[in-house]
Amino acid sequence: MTANLQELYQEVILDHHRRPRNRGTLSEPVHRAEGSNPLCGDRLTIYVRLDGDVIAEVAFEGSGCAISTAAASLMTEAVKGKTVSEAQVLFERYHRILTEDGGEADASRALGKLAVLSGVRQYPVRVKCATLCWHALRAALEDRQEVVTTE
Ligand code: ZN
Repeated sequence: MTANLQELYQEVILDHHRRPRNRGTLSEPVHRAEGSNPLCGDRLTIYVRLDGDVIAEVAFEGSGCAISTAAASLMTEAVKGKTVSEAQVLFERYHRILTEDGGEADASRALGKLAVLSGVRQYPVRVKCATLCWHALRAALEDRQEVVTTE
């Protein structure tokens, strides 16, 4: 990755950390799940409203580090309007660029803005911060009641 691209990515992350999109709650009836990353202290609750199979609305609240907040903000933008299975595919691709070498060029095309978090791969501890919201989203869609933890 070039230094310029890395800087641009960093700016997008900071912007979503400072001004998170879709932050808040959704009124019932809604699918919701809580996620916890004890290693870093990140806690998130994800709210999802489905219209048939489509994610019509999604929101999050909670507190955590810059990466976890930015990741949740970017995720809500990325999955809104997508079907549940499209969101699942997106999560798999996203997870791949965060954990596997060489997937980057391929993934940044498929991931759009989510690619800004690909630099997290260099910091394995941070991968949990960047994926917590996605684990919680999946739990919400499956109506799991227990708190999802990255540990
Ligand atoms: Zn974190």
